[in-house]
Amino acid sequence: MELELAGRVALVTGAGRGIGAAIARELAHEGCDVALVDLCATDMAEELAAELRALSRRAIALRADVRDFDAAEATVAAVIGELGRLDILVCNAGITRDAVTWKMSEQAWDDVLAVNLKGCFAYCRAAAPTLRAQRSGRIVTIASINGMRGKFGQANYAASKAGVMALTKTMARELGPAGVTVNCVAPGMVRTEMTATLPASVVDTAEQESVLGRIAEPEDVANVVAFLCSARARHVTGTVIKVDGGQYL
Ligand code: NAD
Repeated sequence: MELELAGRVALVTGAGRGIGAAIARELAHEGCDVALVDLCATDMAEELAAELRALSRRAIALRADVRDFDAAEATVAAVIGELGRLDILVCNAGITRDAVTWKMSEQAWDDVLAVNLKGCFAYCRAAAPTLRAQRSGRIVTIASINGMRGKFGQANYAASKAGVMALTKTMARELGPAGVTVNCVAPGMVRTEMTATLPASVVDTAEQESVLGRIAEPEDVANVVAFLCSARARHVTGTVIKVDGGQYL
């Protein structure tokens, strides 16, 4: 299936490692030029940009904190300045600060809501005028099945991801008339640095919950994101697609 992504320009947040890096790599393999935005994994983002340039793609790494509204505006402007346009936004950056509700600090609540939900909003808001004006574009947000089902010890994270889904549907309504699609991918557990420090029993449980008997690799998520970014998904908007091997049925 030809995705018709050649020459598109994509901005991926949290692209230095994990799922974001896999998304950036997949979009580049499909022909996109890519801007990799990250706050912490900046060396890895630089390395990935060099790897993608070796594929004859234009690729740039930009350091930015998704929580910063002004930086979101400046980053989108920098991408358009350097790569000439913007067609695809993937809001992927996210963090966890787990604790049961009665032990969760205000800081842990604020940090997770700020990165996962406000950060997603900041980039959607910054990209929307460009996508509306050109009357085409794709936005894909990354939520989690835990935003649908709730998760012990993740009140902040689950609430932030439920918010991302509601934001996605709202943006789909607002941008649909301009020919821009907005969709959400909700992964189950994925093998990344985020989950690397979890106790083995937690990963075992996720594998047992999955009807496929395994947790996802980052590429499993990236493949679905690439499809949603493509011409083939032109009539798909406002939807949430689980990529969880049936972990939450
Ligand atoms: P990860 O921790 O491996 O990577 C996250 C990236 O986001 C890192 O490179 C980090 O530097 C960056 N980042 C963090 N805060 C940032 C900020 N304020 N500004 C800019 N960049 C920032 O995580 P991952 O597993 O690759 O997760 C990616 C996304 O997928 C997240 O939104 C996460 O919630 C979601 N997700 C992950 C899983 C999983 O099991 N790994 C499951 C469901 C959803």
